[in-house]
Amino acid sequence: HPAIILSHVCKDYANGLRVLEDINLSIQDAQFVSLVGPSGCGKSTLLRIIAGLGRLTTGQLCWGTQTAPRKLAFVFQDAALMPWATVQDNVGLPLKLARTSKSVATAAVAEALAMVDLQGFEQCYPQQLSGGMKMRVSIARAMVTKPEILLMDEPFGALDEITRSKLNTELLGLWTQKQWTVVFVTHNLYEAIYLSNRVVVMAAHPGRIVADVAIEVPYPRP
Ligand code: ADP
Ligand code: ADP
Repeated sequence: HPAIILSHVCKDYANGLRVLEDINLSIQDAQFVSLVGPSGCGKSTLLRIIAGLGRLTTGQLCWGTQTAPRKLAFVFQDAALMPWATVQDNVGLPLKLARTSKSVATAAVAEALAMVDLQGFEQCYPQQLSGGMKMRVSIARAMVTKPEILLMDEPFGALDEITRSKLNTELLGLWTQKQWTVVFVTHNLYEAIYLSNRVVVMAAHPGRIVADVAIEVPYPRP
């Protein structure tokens, strides 16, 4: 079933610049799609539009179908944690905003932290954690509401090569278990091919889709 459908989407910024030109994209449930292309081609703009964070100038966007809308979560490149709050409170924030009861929230936070292997760090503050751990907290916060769609904007871009490759393997393991729909923005082609089963290539000025490739994974996944 379709998880995300974009039809004839164009985006102009207030300064008149056309950033996205006639984007047509249909992403199925449980697909892992990477969005690649040169810097400035509109990958982040497109991901924000998919997230509902940016208005589109023309065209249409749907998440799932009217009868079965899909719930989504966004993971930002810089982890975007609240420095004054513990890991427990950072991960629990979406549940607090949704007024989830405390007992349900505590159990959901524990489950999300277990998924990213961070049990025991509940009372730590972000500045006590490494970059990789902060990213894991950010992924746990995205998972805590049990979304069907996970949108990630260069989530591991600021990390060193070893941490990045470790987190990629973990993400792939989680995806294999949970079968989320993932849209993953990266400028690293190797990463895109390693992670995804579909690579969508964009070009710039204006941002548009120039290739859409299915990847058959030739090696065993975690
Ligand atoms: P990418 O993620 O592929 O690097 P972006 O989506 O960040 O590309 O940006 C696409 C283009 O739109 C760039 O040329 C950028 O400078 C421009 N841009 C981004 N945001 C705005 C904005 N709010 N107003 C005007 N131009 C913008
Ligand atoms: P919209 O709400 O129409 O989607 P955005 O939230 O994308 O607009 O952008 C709001 C404003 O932020 C833009 O009109 C622009 O003035 C400013 N802006 C943000 N990023 C950039 C950028 N990279 N280049 C130029 N202007 C920017």
